[in-house]
Amino acid sequence: KYTGPSFEETMQTRKEYLTPALLTYYKNPIMIVDGKQQYLFDHEGNRYLDMFAGIVTVSVGHCHPTVTKAAIDQMNRLQHTTTIYLHPVIGEFGKKLAETFPKESNLKVVYFVNSGSEANDLAVMMARAYTGNFDFISLRNGYHGASGNSASLTALHTWKYPVPSDFGIKHTLNPDPYRGPFKSSDPEAGKKYAWHLKNLIEHSSPGAVAGFIAESIQGIGGTVELADGFLKEAYDIIRAHGGLCIADEVQTGFGRTGTNFWGFQNYGVTPDIVTMAKGIGNGAPLAAVVTTPEIAKTLSKRIHFNTYGGNPVSCAMGSAVLDVIRDEKIQQNAHDVGSIIKDGLNDLKKKYKVIGDVRGHGLMLGVELVRDHETLEPANTETAHVFEKAKEMGVLVGKGGLYGNCLRIKPPMCVTKEDAKFFLDVMDRSLASL
Ligand code: PMP
Repeated sequence: KYTGPSFEETMQTRKEYLTPALLTYYKNPIMIVDGKQQYLFDHEGNRYLDMFAGIVTVSVGHCHPTVTKAAIDQMNRLQHTTTIYLHPVIGEFGKKLAETFPKESNLKVVYFVNSGSEANDLAVMMARAYTGNFDFISLRNGYHGASGNSASLTALHTWKYPVPSDFGIKHTLNPDPYRGPFKSSDPEAGKKYAWHLKNLIEHSSPGAVAGFIAESIQGIGGTVELADGFLKEAYDIIRAHGGLCIADEVQTGFGRTGTNFWGFQNYGVTPDIVTMAKGIGNGAPLAAVVTTPEIAKTLSKRIHFNTYGGNPVSCAMGSAVLDVIRDEKIQQNAHDVGSIIKDGLNDLKKKYKVIGDVRGHGLMLGVELVRDHETLEPANTETAHVFEKAKEMGVLVGKGGLYGNCLRIKPPMCVTKEDAKFFLDVMDRSLASL
């Protein structure tokens, strides 16, 4: 039973002492005080099925006992010194992480940092230092973080402040086969979007770039899958212009897409740099940049250091997460339960006209609501209604997309078939109440 500060006190402290920019996600906000695997509990003991996992962060389950034990054991032994001394767990975790990449990719050198934003900032710096080029390209509608370079890579006006962006960062047309100008019905769509990328390089850079970054499936942008064939074409174009290709796997990694451990593997490409965060630590403030030995060498020309990057507690947790993913066949579960949910959502699409698109892979799913299938007018108030109704019935989902009209379904990957059934039933009832 929860015995801490009351809901009202907590709300008052938050209003008075914390940034006013904080989102409270529901009309009647909830206070979450306990978590167990795929469930969350509020201060009154109400249980919620968590279909958003702390924004796609809790990969193997809230308070997973293996991860918790790893943290506690390490905390009791040694909490911190930094990487100026040797510590076995950091290298062991780095090795295990490197082993998750395809051998032929040679992606095996790991830099540990603390957040996805930091990982992307580092990737940009690394690509610039390695190539000697400056210009950088990301996709419109992409989200890559909120600090320095990463905030500039992010291309959603809702996240941008009127302050200068990083010079040299450009955003190409988003290869969105649902909302973009070239639709999924067009077999040449991927190529057409790639043409825009090449055109951007030719007209707004010296004809050479440092790199290109993309999420394998856009998360905050509303679970947008890139047009077929785009990524492969894009990687070829970037490399032909001297740049490195970076996969932002902050949301799509660690088996979430079900078919592969890394999202990029679903699209037949091999990046030069991979950034990851969130699911890597199941909630620990941990992130990483993985690259090839050759690219990694560039940063040894100067000192590169990060106080908490590679701290033993976060690394012990990250290492335990990899063990759980393997031992509990988490990726297979993401595939199996994700397929049931996606099929169920497609059935609901036949029943409710407001569903414009169901997309994603494994447990990285999204539903876009529209008022008109031709104009694609965003059904944002309808989305907010479904989102609130689901909460009332004990299911927490995410909301996203530039227009706030996408439901994001990305639960801890230990969700079961029974949870999927309950979730679909709640979705059905929430949509019926529109
Ligand atoms: N990349 C992606 C794809 C993300 O979703 C996020 C966070 N939502 C980030 C980077 C930034 O991560 P962080 O919030 O840990 O800085």
